Amino acid sequence: MPNWREIISRGDKISKKLEKLSGKTLVVTMEIPWGKLRKISLFEPTRLIYANQMEIQFLNEIVETLDNFDWVIGIGGGVACDMAKFISWKKEIPLILLPTVISVDAPFTASIAIRENDVVKYVGSVVPNEIIIDYNIISQAPPELNRAGVADILSIHTALWDWRLSSEKTGERYDSKIAEEAKKCLDFVEENAEEIRKVSSKGIDVIVDMYCREVDLCTEFGNSRPEEGSEHIVAYCAEYLTKEQFLHGNIVAFGIFCMSRLQENFPDWITGLMDRVGLDFSAGNLTNDKIRKILLSLKEFKDQSDLFYSVIDEKIIDENFVSNILKELNRYER
Ligand SMILES: [Zn+2]
Repeated sequence: MPNWREIISRGDKISKKLEKLSGKTLVVTMEIPWGKLRKISLFEPTRLIYANQMEIQFLNEIVETLDNFDWVIGIGGGVACDMAKFISWKKEIPLILLPTVISVDAPFTASIAIRENDVVKYVGSVVPNEIIIDYNIISQAPPELNRAGVADILSIHTALWDWRLSSEKTGERYDSKIAEEAKKCLDFVEENAEEIRKVSSKGIDVIVDMYCREVDLCTEFGNSRPEEGSEHIVAYCAEYLTKEQFLHGNIVAFGIFCMSRLQENFPDWITGLMDRVGLDFSAGNLTNDKIRKILLSLKEFKDQSDLFYSVIDEKIIDENFVSNILKELNRYER
């Protein structure tokens, strides 16, 4: 695995460098991100496809119909990047990623998030030749989308607690040095909270650097335990039960809000930090009934999906817990 920071190039309008690519190029993108690139760059790909879904069957069909290319270039958010990664992996074509928003860590992870019957699954492993971070393009995305990116870093807070618990209760492998290093990512976010909120170049750099750091740590450990805990189970359960599409960062943030309370793990500190970086943890698009159903179903969902051990196995989530969560979110119940 590379040092991710070394394959990243950053700068204002740096995506113009795509114009210099030679050979046959395949761009995987979406309409809005592609439009943004067009305003900056005259780059003309050999072929362009729009990424719209990640169901494995659909992806395999696409791969079968493709010729060979010298480059596959993912331009956009998580779906475009993951689809480009999938094509690169299956067809062994060198990959360039140009994230136009930093709402998810997809461009910075080797594994590829696909869907099988609507359930997220991670497959493959692919490392891009280059990741292009263009401040000009990224800062055009709605700020709340970019800020949402920080949730997959703040998830370290609840994930580390679960990991430690699991090591004590189930004997799961635990690495205190990696846990310590992961914790430093939280400190770094805290030091730069205002820049992240502003989505300044510095704020973008902090998110990108912390993604890289986190990916390095997870790679070193062998899985994403240092950053994926019960807060992600909340997100997966919400997706599964409601069949709605959420902004990943926001639903994970909601998970952090709830699970830090269940863990009794500095909930006020982490909530304050989410406020400072401008991360929306309120689950505003969910009704009280849906929130209740999600939280009360967590244990059953976790068992069914055979997910990792966490606070959800340790503490009982009852009506009382749910009422407190709703109250703290300033939601009134009829
Ligand atoms: Zn995540």
